[in-house]
Amino acid sequence: MIRLHYIALSLFLTSFTASAQQIFSNNKYPLVDFRPPMDITPASLAGSFGEIRGNHFHSGMDYRTNQREGYPVYAVADGYVSRIRVQNGGFGQALYLVHPNGYTTVYGHLQRFNPKIAQYTEKTQYAKKTFELDEYLTSSIIPVHKGDLIAWSGNRGSSGGPHLHFEVRDSKTEATINPQLFGLDIPDNIPPVIHAMYVYRLNKKPFNEFTPKQYFQVLGANGKYHLNQVSTINLGEEAGFGITVTDRGNGASGTNGVYSIMLEVDGKPVYTSALERFSFDNSKAVNSHMDYPAYMNTKRVIQKSFVDPGNPLQIYFNLVNNGRLEFEDGKLYALKYTVTDAKGNQSTLEFKVKGDGKATIATKDLPAGTLFPYNQNNEFNTNNVKVIIAPGNLYNDLNFTYAEKPRPASNAFSAMHQIQNALTPLHTGFELWIKADSSLSKYKDKAIIVNANRASQGGYFENGYVKAKPRTFGTFFIAIDTIAPSIVPINISSGKNMAGLSKMTFKISDNLSGLKSFNGYIDGKWVLMEFDAKTATLWHSFTSQTATGKHTLRLVVDDVKNNSKTLTIDFYK
Ligand SMILES: [Zn+2]
Repeated sequence: MIRLHYIALSLFLTSFTASAQQIFSNNKYPLVDFRPPMDITPASLAGSFGEIRGNHFHSGMDYRTNQREGYPVYAVADGYVSRIRVQNGGFGQALYLVHPNGYTTVYGHLQRFNPKIAQYTEKTQYAKKTFELDEYLTSSIIPVHKGDLIAWSGNRGSSGGPHLHFEVRDSKTEATINPQLFGLDIPDNIPPVIHAMYVYRLNKKPFNEFTPKQYFQVLGANGKYHLNQVSTINLGEEAGFGITVTDRGNGASGTNGVYSIMLEVDGKPVYTSALERFSFDNSKAVNSHMDYPAYMNTKRVIQKSFVDPGNPLQIYFNLVNNGRLEFEDGKLYALKYTVTDAKGNQSTLEFKVKGDGKATIATKDLPAGTLFPYNQNNEFNTNNVKVIIAPGNLYNDLNFTYAEKPRPASNAFSAMHQIQNALTPLHTGFELWIKADSSLSKYKDKAIIVNANRASQGGYFENGYVKAKPRTFGTFFIAIDTIAPSIVPINISSGKNMAGLSKMTFKISDNLSGLKSFNGYIDGKWVLMEFDAKTATLWHSFTSQTATGKHTLRLVVDDVKNNSKTLTIDFYK
């Protein structure tokens, strides 16, 4: 079975064009070491590797589980459990297995672990008195064999529905690698669909929301696409291109991302992106890979075929002038996009460009601002605000703008500051200091910076300022959080007999700064409370430790600004 699979794949690869072989880095990864992590056949994906999500490339493959939880999840190869992770959001419950071939596999959103792993996890949670866990294990603690049941699939953490999130990582570098390069078969003989093409009149200027852009409708099917209405585009200045594209596996209802995009001019590649692997540090640069202003304005994902100077992603090759192209007056050029999915199905879009010195669109004048070079430390100061943008955060030179805005009517302890705007992406964020009103003094410990939607950016008071590190540009002011979190009991009330119930359940939330911790005690002894951030649900599963009779539960929930809520409730078991 596995052997046949290998032969089929090699034959398949030899049928690729030379450029496709280059895209797929032939024979770099072991094709027979891993069995599939689940037995659901045919395997189908709810999310592909490298698919573009809000603020990141998807770091693994999402296996469909028929909208249900509880499918067995198997170790894909011999190895050992190297890491157990439990999170309020994120992967929820995840296992990491290290294999002797140099790769680590990751299994996320799990419903529950196998009994041995579950026991180890709970023991550690009780020892550390914490629900959230990030435990690294040595090889002798929980060894596994290929095909061992390690867990059941679920919907825990930041999951939009039941599925298995599966990753293959390089054990040394932690770079995540496309699992489909390891011979894991996902039936797909459908070529990608190219939806639209865009021309950016770059005019040798940094790309931003002011870059003139033209939309071209794309028509076609079965891997062959062309522009509607025009066959030749006249271009008189430096230009870049972009496309919107999706892929679909056999029998899959939703669409996924593609593996690679190549743009050729007269048969010569000028841009290629290939999602073979990436490092987590670079994942946020998806905001540079795509047309971020378009995404913020319309949620449309346009993949640019020119690379910003501050883009750290190592998914590009064959770049000519970073994909910024110039066309000689009077000359005709043949352009061709080739889009390939992870199974090698390809679609092309062909069109012509004619160099035409008169066919220009000037960039509008930018608003008055300060030049922030992308590769430098940049600072901006007024009497009331300080902005520091460390190198590595801007993808392009920025015309930085600032304005003071009318302050909000309630819960504001500073002026409102508009720092650039939400259409400019940042890699990790920037440092923001906002001068506090004197009336803040008695609430210093409760101060945070919030944006115009009153979403907390965190922060702390120091030397007359509140300082925080927002991840995005926007409009900000100082607010205070003096209100304790709320606890709403769901299936428990004072004096209730809980016999016959497997758990007690609550909803917990905070109004502003966010939840920091929750701790439950039965008769004074710490007990494990589990939490699911997406549903704000907190629960304790009863154990044999809670014997028949009367008990007292004390539940303490704190927010980030140390406002604390305690619920004490008697119940019977
Ligand atoms: Zn996923």
